[in-house]
Amino acid sequence: MNQKYRQLAKLDKKYTWHPFTQMSEWIKSDPIILTRAKGPHVFDVRGRRYLDANSSIWTNTHGHGHPRIRRAIEKQLRKLSHSSYLGQGNEPASLLAEKLVRLTRKLPRPLNRVFYSDDGSTALEVALKMSFQYWLQQKKEKPRRRFLALEGSYHGDTLGAVSLSHVPLFDGKFKPLLVKSDQVMAPSCYRCPFNRAKPARENAMLARRCNWECVALAEKKLKSRKYAAFVVEPAVQGVAGMVVHPPGYLARIARTARRTNTLLILDEVMTAFGRTGTMFACAQERVTPDLLCLAKGLTGGTMPLAATLTTERVFQAFLGEFHELKTFFHGHSYTGNPLGCAAALANLEIFEREGTFDRIRRLERVLARCLEPLWNLPHVGDIRQKGLVAGIELVKNWKTRGPYPWQERMGAKVCHLAKKKGVLTRPIGDVIVLMPPYCVTPRQIERICRVIYDAISLSTSALERKLARANENDRR
Ligand code: PMP
Repeated sequence: MNQKYRQLAKLDKKYTWHPFTQMSEWIKSDPIILTRAKGPHVFDVRGRRYLDANSSIWTNTHGHGHPRIRRAIEKQLRKLSHSSYLGQGNEPASLLAEKLVRLTRKLPRPLNRVFYSDDGSTALEVALKMSFQYWLQQKKEKPRRRFLALEGSYHGDTLGAVSLSHVPLFDGKFKPLLVKSDQVMAPSCYRCPFNRAKPARENAMLARRCNWECVALAEKKLKSRKYAAFVVEPAVQGVAGMVVHPPGYLARIARTARRTNTLLILDEVMTAFGRTGTMFACAQERVTPDLLCLAKGLTGGTMPLAATLTTERVFQAFLGEFHELKTFFHGHSYTGNPLGCAAALANLEIFEREGTFDRIRRLERVLARCLEPLWNLPHVGDIRQKGLVAGIELVKNWKTRGPYPWQERMGAKVCHLAKKKGVLTRPIGDVIVLMPPYCVTPRQIERICRVIYDAISLSTSALERKLARANENDRR
């Protein structure tokens, strides 16, 4: 086994280049090489078992290897694994489109067209190009070139998606290549400059006391110019650090977007498919966007597939004679891939057949209970939870909410320790992300939280000791 590990790790380090990874560090590390997975667990080539506490980067819904999804993929593989969606339709793609449209019937205004792509970034790329072209094709309107997004928003890595994102670490270097997009204050209550109320556990009170300054700022921006679209991650901004929006925010900004005739793009790449407690997060605020981007959990965490859903109004703007050139000239080789669509259909069927939403509601309460003790740790500044998504924000100083020096990589240290104890997750800066698949048991949630508690406790006290020593040396 160890020989096999050595061989595979050697090949990995010699030939591959991992995403978001400083490879000089990776090459010196002992990377985990996975070979199989089952339910909430993944197993490495050395036979070690890990609880997948971030659902394989937020993609997995019902657990690894769910028999319904596996069977659907196998069955489809025997029939048609891929054919071009350019010029042909295919069985699972038609069925899935109908299913997705039907799911949006619960929203106040239905969405009725599905444009397939491959992952979250491409779903956003489609939304960006579609909304831009939509305005180009409006007879009575001047073209609209600019987009609005929230501070700290992340919408993917392709250039269009990066343009909509406002994470300086990722978009800074690429600024000269990007489409113009403005940012507006996000409803990040823990760091709200207008309201120093306590963190998320008092969120209900916070929402009552707050004057919605962030909504007023968004309103001001939307009125200041004609934006092509306002793009928002509803309910939870993932890469911003699992920033849970206060209830009511989405409904308010959606109303303003509508009043200012700005298209609303909702990026539900992370929040949809049960992650925040419902099929779509926007349903909780009774909001329908003009464009809805889906990916990650769409196939239950099995195949790369994404979809951008839109309204009849947007779709109609692209219709005309060919020579009018209103066509949406966009697509990929694997658009509408039948294996992905078959997996997605099975994934959606499981929600209906296995009472998944009830289970999520129960697990949400268990997770909240198990996270409670973490508030007692002196360097836990905030704990934010929505559905089965949680972010634990570590800070150097609890009172001032002052962060650790980023070079200390406190979040990474905590996750490294947790990994040694068999719990796999990734931090976002100093926010520890917990996002287990829905098949996790209450005991497994307890275990995840206990491991994270210990890892935070050990890592923060080690750093405090180090910083105290450094201080003492400085004084001498
Ligand atoms: N939007 C959101 C909200 C995301 O969280 C992500 C990925 N973390 C993306 C878009 C990009 O998705 P992908 O990595 O599948 O391209």
